Amino acid sequence: MSHFVLPPAAPTVLDVAGGGLFPIRRVFCVGRNYAAHAREMGGNPDREPPFFFTKPADAISSAPTIPYPPATRDLHHEGELVVAIGAGGADIAQERALDHVFGYTVGVDLTRRDLQSALRKEGRPWDMAKGFDFAGPCGILRPAADIGHPSKGAITLSVNGVQKQAGDLADMVWSVPEIVAILSGLVALAPGDLIFTGTPEGVGPLARGDRVEVRAAGIGGHVFTLR
Ligand code: MN
Repeated sequence: MSHFVLPPAAPTVLDVAGGGLFPIRRVFCVGRNYAAHAREMGGNPDREPPFFFTKPADAISSAPTIPYPPATRDLHHEGELVVAIGAGGADIAQERALDHVFGYTVGVDLTRRDLQSALRKEGRPWDMAKGFDFAGPCGILRPAADIGHPSKGAITLSVNGVQKQAGDLADMVWSVPEIVAILSGLVALAPGDLIFTGTPEGVGPLARGDRVEVRAAGIGGHVFTLR
C-alpha cells in the first residue's frame, strides 16, 4: 500500500452561511466583464468573448487581516461577485448553468497592477500579478438555495469608508449562466471551483492599513484590512 510522502494540504475553505465549509478546488477569474472597467483598462468595451485567468485555490482567504503582498508598489482592488460551483460538468448548456451553482459570495481580485502592466507589455502570463498569496479575499458563501441567483443590484467597494467602485450586477458583459457555459467549454468544471466574475469601474491602489469593504445586493459583504 502506498502512502503520502508529505502530509497532503488541507483544502482551503469558505464558511457557508447556515453552517458547513465549502472546499475550494480551483479559482477561475473573468477579465474585463463590465464595459466601463474595460474602457478604464484601455480595452474594447464591446462584447468580445470573455477571457479567463486563474488564482491558486490557497490564494483565497476570509481572514479579517491579510498582508500587503511583496513585489509591488501598486496593489489594486477589484471588487467582484464570486460564483461557487456545486455540481461539475463539461459543455454545460447556458439554460442549465445555474443548476451547477452552489452559491455566491463577494471577493476582491487583488492585483499587482505594476507587475500586470509590465507583463502585458511583454506579452507574458499574468500569474504573478494575480496569483500571489492572499490575492483573493472572500466573504461567507450564501447558498443559492437560500438567496436564489442574484443577477441585478449594486456591487460596491469602499476603502476606509469611501466608496471607490460602484456597478450593477446587471451590467456584467457576460452573465453568470453565460460564463459558466463558456468556461465549461474550456475546462470540465468541478465541485469546489470558484469563479470571480469581473469588476466594475473604479479600480485603484491600496496601502498598508487600508480597510476594504466589498458588498453586493442580495449577497452581503466582506471586510478586510491590509497590514
Ligand atoms: Mn478582476
